[in-house]
Amino acid sequence: MTAIDLPHPAWMTEDLVLLEEQARRFMRAEFTPHVDRWHEQGMYEREVWSKAGAAGLLCASMPEEYGGAGGSFAHEAVIIRELSLAGFDAFGAPLHSGIVAPYILHYGTEEQKKRWLPKLATGELIGAIAMTEPGTGSDLQGVRTTAKKSSNGYMLNGAKTFITNGQHANLVIVVAKTDPKERAKGVSLIVVETADATGFRRGRKLKKLGLDAADTSELFFEDVALPASSLLGTEEGQGFAQLMNELPQERLIVSAHAVAMMERALELTIAYVKERQAFGKKIIDFQNTQFTLAECKSEATIAKVFLDHCIGRHLDGKLDTVTASMAKYRLTDLLGTITDRCLQLFGGYGYMDEYPISRLYRDARVMRIYAGTNEIMKLLIARGL
Ligand SMILES: Cc1cc2nc3c(=O)[nH]c(=O)nc-3n(C[C@H](O)[C@H](O)[C@H](O)COP(=O)(O)OP(=O)(O)OC[C@H]3O[C@@H](n4cnc5c(N)ncnc54)[C@H](O)[C@@H]3O)c2cc1C
Repeated sequence: MTAIDLPHPAWMTEDLVLLEEQARRFMRAEFTPHVDRWHEQGMYEREVWSKAGAAGLLCASMPEEYGGAGGSFAHEAVIIRELSLAGFDAFGAPLHSGIVAPYILHYGTEEQKKRWLPKLATGELIGAIAMTEPGTGSDLQGVRTTAKKSSNGYMLNGAKTFITNGQHANLVIVVAKTDPKERAKGVSLIVVETADATGFRRGRKLKKLGLDAADTSELFFEDVALPASSLLGTEEGQGFAQLMNELPQERLIVSAHAVAMMERALELTIAYVKERQAFGKKIIDFQNTQFTLAECKSEATIAKVFLDHCIGRHLDGKLDTVTASMAKYRLTDLLGTITDRCLQLFGGYGYMDEYPISRLYRDARVMRIYAGTNEIMKLLIARGL
C-alpha cells in the first residue's frame, strides 16, 4: 500500500501487477541505494541504462519483433511510477522509452525500426529528442536548425538546448527545417546517430534548480553530413504533425510522474510527522498537520483517479489533446502545491538537501515548464472551449 490507497484501475492487468512488483524490487535493489551518490556527483552512470535494459525496463511498450516487451503504454506508466517511488526522477528512461522509441515505431521505415529499436531496448542506444533551441521553445514552428538537402543526404546545422539525456544520448531525434521558408510545413525529424556524426558536439551539462543527476545539456550540430535515411520516415515536412500526434503521450508521461511524486511526498511526510515531536506532541497530533495532510491526500487521490482515467482513454486510442493538456497542467500544478505543503511540515529539515522532500520540491518545479509549459496547456484547453 502507498499513500494513495485506490484499487487498481480496470486497465491494470495481472501481467502489469507482476511488472510493478518486479520493477519495484529491481529499483529498490539497483537504483535507490545509489540515488544520493548520483545526486552528489551531478550525474548518474552510463551503466544504469544497460542495467535497466537487461531488466526489461526499457521500451516495454515496443513490439517484441523490435526487441521490446510487447506491452502498451500501461507498461510505461507502471515503470514511471516505480521510478518516482524509488526516488529516481532524474532518469531519462521515460523519455527514451515513451517518447523517442514511439517516434521511430510510428513514423520510421521498416529499416529504421529494425536498426534502432532493438538497441534502444537494450540500452545500447540512448535516445534524446532535441526540439528546444536557445531562441525557440514554446514556438516550435520557429526552430532555426536546418537540414539542407545535399547530394547524398542532409547537412545539419543548429544549436539545441535543455536536452534531456544530452550527455549520454547516442541517438538524437532533431527537430529541423528541411524548408526554412515554411513554418510548420518546413519541419522534419532527423535522426542522428552521434557516434558517426562528425560536426556533432555536446555542450555543457547544464546546472539546474532540480533533477541534479539528470544530464540535461546543450547540443551543437555544425555541418553534420547525414545519409538520406536519417530523415524519419520517407517524406519531408511531416515533423510538426508527427510532434503534435505524439505530444498527448508525452504529457501523460509527465502527469504519471507528477502523481507518483505526490504519492512519494505524502509517504515521506506522513512518516516524518509521526516521528518528530514539538511541544511534547508528535507533529501529526497538531490539527494543522492533520488537515494539511488530509487535504493533500484528498487532492492527490482525485489526481490519481483522473490520471488513471486518462491512461485508460489513451490505451483505447481516445486521449485527445485537450484532456492530455488538462492532466499535464493540473497535475503538475498540484504537485507544486503538495510538495510545498509537505516540505513545510518538515520545518527546517525540509530545506536541507539530505532530506528527499527538498529534492522532490526542486525536481517538481520543472514539470510545469517542460513538455509544453502550463500556459501553453491552457491555450490548448481554451481553444476547445
Ligand atoms: C530540465 C529540462 C529538460 C528539458 N528537456 C527537453 C528535451 O529533452 N527536449 C527538448 O526539446 N526540450 C527540453 N526542455 C525544454 C522545454 O521543453 C522548454 O523549456 C519549454 O518548452 C519552454 O520553452 P522556453 O524555455 O523557450 O520558454 P519560452 O517559450 O520562451 O516561454 C517563456 C514564458 O512565456 C510563456 N509563453 C510562451 N508562449 C506563450 C503564449 N503563446 N501564451 C502565453 N504564454 C506564453 C511560457 O509559458 C513561459 O512562461 C527541457 C527543459 C528543462 C528545463
